[in-house]
Amino acid sequence: MGNKDHLHKYKLKNLGSDGKLYLVYFCTLPNCTNYIRADLIYGKEVICNRCDRPYIHKNWEGRYVVHPHCLDCTKKSDKVKKHDADLDDIFKVLEVK
Ligand SMILES: [Zn+2]
Ligand SMILES: [Zn+2]
Repeated sequence: MGNKDHLHKYKLKNLGSDGKLYLVYFCTLPNCTNYIRADLIYGKEVICNRCDRPYIHKNWEGRYVVHPHCLDCTKKSDKVKKHDADLDDIFKVLEVK
C-alpha cells in the first residue's frame, strides 16, 4: 500500500456537465484515486509527466496543462516543432471562479 505517501502524477479532467467547466487534476498512478481542484495544483509538489521527477508546479499564466510537466521539460518542448502534442496540451481557461 503506502499510496498516501507518494507525490501525485496529475492529469487534467473536466468533471463539469452541461457545458460547464469544473476542472480537476486526478492522479494517474495505479491504485490512486486522489484528485484536486485544478487551481489547487499551483505550488504543489507533483511528478513530472515527462521525466518522472518531482517539481513544484507554478502558475502558467492562468493556463492549465493537461499533463503537468516541469520547467526543464517545458523548455525542451519549446524547441520541438509546432505539431508537438504539447500545444494541444495547453487548455485555455477563460474564466474560472
Ligand atoms: Zn496519487
Ligand atoms: Zn520534467
